[in-house]
Amino acid sequence: MIRLSSRGLVDVSPRRGWFVIEPTQAQAREIIEARRAVETGLIMDHAQVSPEAIMRLREHLAAQREAILGQDLARRSYLLGHFHVHMADVLGNSVLAGILENLTARTVLIAALYQSEEDAQQSCDDHAELIDAMERGDKERAIRLTQEHLAHLGKALSNRARSNRHSGLHAVFAEAAS
Ligand SMILES: [Zn+2]
Repeated sequence: MIRLSSRGLVDVSPRRGWFVIEPTQAQAREIIEARRAVETGLIMDHAQVSPEAIMRLREHLAAQREAILGQDLARRSYLLGHFHVHMADVLGNSVLAGILENLTARTVLIAALYQSEEDAQQSCDDHAELIDAMERGDKERAIRLTQEHLAHLGKALSNRARSNRHSGLHAVFAEAAS
């Protein structure tokens, strides 16, 4: 928790205890833009992905599926986010893996709280398609899949930010009325 707090992901208040700091719409957009730059760049730099790398990606995918089936929400959202960190690692770039770890940390917490099982499954299916495209060496498709995957995540985050703003306003009005 302290580590999450130092990253600005959670905060503690005497009244509420620990709570997740949710990204605003602007922050969500920045996270998605940064991820798009890093992840499409990573794919562009790796035309050929070794069979061993593909195997390690598929092992990770199997763990994601297991967590979804097992209804393990915390592990599920961790693994779905971590897949992208793992991909940078597997492709041999620990610097980008570190950057992605930071970029995914915030969205993983939000997903753990709000992502539906259907969305989690969709996310996992996207990962499977991405691995297939990389195995075929189809860079263009891999990049397009990544862009769509992140657009979907961006939409979910900005919906979330919007509904929060509304509930925030509601609270202000409730307080003003009392
Ligand atoms: Zn993903």
